[in-house]
Amino acid sequence: MKNTIAVIKGDGIGPEIMDATLHVLDALGCGLEYEFVDAGLCALEAQGSLLPPETLDAISRHKVALKGPLTTPVGEGFSSINVELRKRFDLYANVRPAITFPGTKARYEDIDIITVRENTEGAYGAEGQVLSPDGQTAQSLIRVTRRGSERIVRYAFDLARSTGRKKVTVVHKANIMKTTSGLFLNVAREIAADYPEITCNEMIVDNTCMQLVMNPHQFDVIVTTNLFGDIISDLCAGLVGGLGLAPGANIGSDAAIFEAVHGSAPDIAGKGIANPCALLLGAGQMLDHLGLSGQAQRLRGAIRSVVEAKDRVTPDLGGTGSTRSFAEALAERV
Ligand code: NAD
Repeated sequence: MKNTIAVIKGDGIGPEIMDATLHVLDALGCGLEYEFVDAGLCALEAQGSLLPPETLDAISRHKVALKGPLTTPVGEGFSSINVELRKRFDLYANVRPAITFPGTKARYEDIDIITVRENTEGAYGAEGQVLSPDGQTAQSLIRVTRRGSERIVRYAFDLARSTGRKKVTVVHKANIMKTTSGLFLNVAREIAADYPEITCNEMIVDNTCMQLVMNPHQFDVIVTTNLFGDIISDLCAGLVGGLGLAPGANIGSDAAIFEAVHGSAPDIAGKGIANPCALLLGAGQMLDHLGLSGQAQRLRGAIRSVVEAKDRVTPDLGGTGSTRSFAEALAERV
């Protein structure tokens, strides 16, 4: 049976890297069909809304979306579209793999870490943000629930189990944030007991940052709350050579959205030199999610060999190629 996915090309370099990605997916022969819908600045200009109802409807119907980066206009009245999508579809797990690719400028070799970040609560709630009328005091609410903690920790352990990973590190700050981080840690300890074959260790977030820089090979799967996960996953992306190779999946019970971690890169938009790999690696996560793991592995293998050979790769990876030539090199090797 053919899978249909919603495709959002996005803003800035979005259309360039999405065309490249779809070219490679077609060469891979995974039998996907696409429904193209808009979001972001291009949707605001064409349809008067950053997130039109047709786009939400397509994601609801197909349950899977591949999304280019979106520009959120600066200014009052515009909330982040990405945060809005996570809320609408309750995409509670943000899964960000960081893997080193031979031939790239990375600090370490053989890094393979997955950060599983809680995506819907923690310090990211808009409610509870208060600025006093005189502008002198700002307050914000951190909300952590047993249900939210349980499902994200279980997601991380299930992921470790299904992919043969051996260790989950629970990252927290329960020594200081005794109620919020404390609840998360206590729940994590309870859930870990259901997975005796997987080692569970606990680490305070500041120490985790240092350990990631000094000795990253000790990490396998990391699970943590929203803000810590946001920071740690970017740190991990830095360890493996930056944003050009960092994908992210946003997964809920009823829908999932796959993307690159980077933004719309307005400084290089339209120049044809954007690296499509982060979005392609996001597409690889999507293929795994759709049960097309063989194709996902072929895709990652092709990226590995093209990047290592520096065959027609873009300038950020030390090449002189274009988005298009990079995609052609990949399409030949999948
Ligand atoms: P950015 O990630 O777009 O760019 C940061 C730097 O990395 C730039 O120098 C850019 O040229 C470079 N870069 C990014 N992706 C690249 C690629 N594929 N190939 C080569 N170079 C690449 O971050 P920014 O400039 O801070 O943000 C621009 C816009 O993107 C903002 O409106 C922001 O809100 C939005 N944004 C969207 C998402 C998303 O949709 N998931 C994520 C982050 C930022």
